[in-house]
Amino acid sequence: MFALCLAALAAVAIAGTPASAQDYPAKPIVLLVPFAAGGPTDTVGRSLAQGMGKALKQTIVVENAVGAGGTIAPAKLKGAPPDGYTILLAHVGMSTAPALYRSLPFKPLEDFELVGQVVDVPMTLIGKKDIPPNDLRELIAYVKANKDKISFANAGVGSASHLCGLLFMSTIQVELTTIPYKGTAPVISDLVGGQVDILCDQTTNTTLYIKAGRVKAFGTTSKTRLDSLKELPTLAEAGVPGFEVVVWHGIYAPKGTPKPIIDKLTAALQAGIQDPVFVQRMSDLGAQVVSRDQATPESLRDRLRAEIDRWTPIIRKAEVYAD
Ligand code: ASP
Repeated sequence: MFALCLAALAAVAIAGTPASAQDYPAKPIVLLVPFAAGGPTDTVGRSLAQGMGKALKQTIVVENAVGAGGTIAPAKLKGAPPDGYTILLAHVGMSTAPALYRSLPFKPLEDFELVGQVVDVPMTLIGKKDIPPNDLRELIAYVKANKDKISFANAGVGSASHLCGLLFMSTIQVELTTIPYKGTAPVISDLVGGQVDILCDQTTNTTLYIKAGRVKAFGTTSKTRLDSLKELPTLAEAGVPGFEVVVWHGIYAPKGTPKPIIDKLTAALQAGIQDPVFVQRMSDLGAQVVSRDQATPESLRDRLRAEIDRWTPIIRKAEVYAD
């Protein structure tokens, strides 16, 4: 009798699931990445796509929908069909865009289904190889003395590099010329080529350049030194106490994506972040993969809400806006 009831319940549950959700995923999934190919967000996206794809037994194709400080991709997600075939990887910028943009075409907490958190990535303050200063104190003195000549590149208004740059400039009380790109992959090429002077960027992009000596590193934005870059002090210990920036990431789907599909995506995310290749790659690049409990819609919602509450007053105070 009990078994019969269970069978009946299961039948009802399956009947209540749309056919598209039962078969999901029946074709490749597009993972939107808001910044340029080869950059830090792209690196996380491509590594994660492998593990999540394995779990879903389907290919996940990365599409770089770049521009406007990373806000083009969420806008594109908002307009995509809610069928689980278009999802988005976005970072801390999701929580700063509402305060930064006067006419943002999406509301991060209302316009999407949330799948879960992915990874926390620290940043590094780096300069072109032949910039004269050799440590943070020297760098601060140098940029103050040469503020009209120094270019501080970033990935556009609301990008992590922009936020880190804002924080740095306001902490040392200097205003430098900022140069926006469509991601920090092209910035780092220009930094290596000497066309721009300084950049604050995720370790998922900078670690290999720092290790190869192709750029000069001044510190990490983490609380403690990173195992992957042991020699490099934190910015806090090197001269700007309290300076900390964490670039957290989440996976999003269009509003109205059926719950059974979100559940499958969350399960695949949890498998993806535990995939040994992903874990190793992230650890080599100084990133901290989230726990299974954080790779859930609820946890992403809590983080997104808390980060919007944290960044909004800071941005309002700085009076930075974009259209
Ligand atoms: N590091 C970039 C940022 O500033 C994004 C990227 O190119 O992935 O947000």
